[in-house]
Amino acid sequence: MPELSKLVAGLKRSGIREIGDLAAGMEGVISLQIGEPLFSTPPHIIDAACEAVKAGFTKYTPNPGLPSVRAVIARRLNEDYQLKLTPENVVLTVGGIGALATAIRALTDAGDEVLIPDPGWPNYEMTVECADAVPRRYELDQARGFIPAIEDLEKLITPKTKVLLINSPSNPLGTVFPGAIMRELVDFARRYDLYIVSDEVYEKIIYDGKHASALSFDTDGRVVGIFSFSKTYAMTGWRVGYAVAAEPLARQIAKLQEAYVSSAAAVSQKAAEAAITGAQDCVENMRKAYEENRNVACQVLDSFGINYQKPLGAFYMWVEVNCEDSTEFAKRLLIEQKVAVAPGTTFGPSGKRHIRISLASPREAIREGLHRLGLMLKS
Ligand code: PLP
Repeated sequence: MPELSKLVAGLKRSGIREIGDLAAGMEGVISLQIGEPLFSTPPHIIDAACEAVKAGFTKYTPNPGLPSVRAVIARRLNEDYQLKLTPENVVLTVGGIGALATAIRALTDAGDEVLIPDPGWPNYEMTVECADAVPRRYELDQARGFIPAIEDLEKLITPKTKVLLINSPSNPLGTVFPGAIMRELVDFARRYDLYIVSDEVYEKIIYDGKHASALSFDTDGRVVGIFSFSKTYAMTGWRVGYAVAAEPLARQIAKLQEAYVSSAAAVSQKAAEAAITGAQDCVENMRKAYEENRNVACQVLDSFGINYQKPLGAFYMWVEVNCEDSTEFAKRLLIEQKVAVAPGTTFGPSGKRHIRISLASPREAIREGLHRLGLMLKS
């Protein structure tokens, strides 16, 4: 039999899944490793989706999505970030990952280089490799508050560099880039003639400060915004997100959707429309719950004197553990204390001494899980 694709065979498996698989065979495990809201989708969104199905939204939609949904998304982004988008700038996708994958593919050819954060969401590397492009990691240094440094980025530029991928609020760090930094990054991209793929799927989960969108600083159509309903509205299973880009690129992304998935599911697009046009107190209630979880986590970690990055946004915490290999550490924590966390190495080579915990877990699980972590570190 001929060999299966070498590219796919060579893709690295996520270390989060590895811990999840190990945990699945054990009883009574406290799970702090999964980045998924613990809430159910708000009922008014579910109701709207049921109505939409009954009204016949059961068929293909245009590749970039339903015009009415693209319009409400453009309107809300214009209001939130003082933009001048039209529905033609918006493409509904299969989750934020669908927006990310099609945007990267639409921007690169084989061998083009994409700068990705270290630490950063594991899917970035995989997505870039699937596009036959080359991921190059830029380190987010603790000494600089985990904010990208322009001089570090400059050192990575080659004639092949095409895209700078940024993520704020950050998974796994919880950092939120101030507007001035966003502006600097967009200016940098302009200077080196790069595109920016700005992953802003956690834009509404902010504890301190304000989210700045890279789109606000884009003067010439080089920023692609990646957004999602998954985290903001607890809609991970609906698989709906969107890319926001200048029209020629938006058309490329929609064309790729034709090749891969045709479009996001009609019912999910209608649910997304209800999410945006409906009351937003559900978003605020979930945000508050994550913030309280963050405060509980800080208390427990402080009581053990453990170092961590206090998250300003998203729902993760990047915790320093005294070890040389965070994957081995995470396995030990699981076996000895029955606590599942994501090993830092999953997010890049700079994560050797860190683990990531999810604040979207139940509060008591966070309290007890971190207490057990503290006991293990002490012993
Ligand atoms: N970007 C980041 C940083 C994420 O953490 C995730 C999900 O965990 C996504 C994008 C994509 O999420 P989805 O495809 O569910 O919208």
